[in-house]
Amino acid sequence: MSVILVTGGTGLVGKALQHILAIEPEGSRFGKKAGEHWVFVSSKDADLRDSAQTMALFEKHKPTHVIHLAAIVGGVYINMKRNLTFLRDNILINDNILHTSHVLGVKKVISCLSTCVFPDKVTYPLDETKIHLGPPHPSNFGYSHAKRMVDVQNRAYKEQFGCNFTSAIPTSIFGPHDNFELESAHVIPALIHKCFLAQRMCAGHSKLPISSSWPYHIENGTSFVVGGTGKPLRQFIYSHDLAKLFIWQLREYDSVEPVILSVGEEEEVSIETLTDAIVRAMDFKGEYVFDTSQAEGQFRKPASNKKLISLIGNFEFTPFQKALDETVQWFLANHARART
Ligand code: NDP
Repeated sequence: MSVILVTGGTGLVGKALQHILAIEPEGSRFGKKAGEHWVFVSSKDADLRDSAQTMALFEKHKPTHVIHLAAIVGGVYINMKRNLTFLRDNILINDNILHTSHVLGVKKVISCLSTCVFPDKVTYPLDETKIHLGPPHPSNFGYSHAKRMVDVQNRAYKEQFGCNFTSAIPTSIFGPHDNFELESAHVIPALIHKCFLAQRMCAGHSKLPISSSWPYHIENGTSFVVGGTGKPLRQFIYSHDLAKLFIWQLREYDSVEPVILSVGEEEEVSIETLTDAIVRAMDFKGEYVFDTSQAEGQFRKPASNKKLISLIGNFEFTPFQKALDETVQWFLANHARART
């Protein structure tokens, strides 16, 4: 019997894992297997910054495997405001998970990193060998350093104790159950939410708050204001595709070396193209404008998925517009209870 504990099991990626395990046929490559028991936990089950609570959680569920997704996560603006919180909380969470897994003899841990771990100044495309070649982008150095250290810890645990600890590096993730809260969200959920508010205003459903400051302000007569120039490029992965890749990594990949989990680098999308795709998905009839005074992070950071594809073989990613349509439909159906 395997007990697979998923930390961060209520978040964007955790919910996607639950979804894939529920819809894929049992016994199939990405479906549940006989003898597997999956446990999804959130901060309500244990505050993983606390070592005693982490130990109690592990003693309760006795995991043989851990997919470690729990993290303090956010978009560029919240990262810039709270680098220390993102550094310290994530270091505590990651250290507690790895230490407790080691002490209790967990057979395998996959921790989730992010392409933020890569150096700011580096040759592109990013690949798994380039993580430690220079400092990360200053906008989110706290989060990035905390995530980087997981790779260092994994190697040390392997060297000193022979642990089977590894990591995944997804590019920007989106999908149902994302965080749509305007100030802390990543770019896709933030733009979907802004477009939604602008659409409601056009239809006369709602008024702007009296103090119409960012993110509600109006420019050139429209309330759909996109931060930055629209020119930066990003590589997005649909959470449902990512969930399958985690299941693959859990069952079929045994090396300490991280794996980038992403669509190909040729699938980069500019923020302007993304905004147009959201406008289509929302059927928004108004205009949008760019607010070039707002920060927009790194210009691009294309990542290679060559290693992944060479190992997994055929894998069908969901077409971007389809994934975006599904995400928008989920938001429209659930905005009252979504994280907004
Ligand atoms: P979410 O913000 O959607 O979910 C975070 C999860 O972590 C929630 O289940 C939350 O529990 C849990 N959590 C947060 N703090 C604690 C804590 N102190 N103790 C226990 N659990 C906690 O995150 P995502 O699903 O978006 O991210 C999953 C992983 O992917 C993270 O490691 C993230 O760094 C990484 N990642 C995310 C990207 C993205 O674009 N979203 C891009 C690249 C990597 P609760 O619901 O109770 O708050």
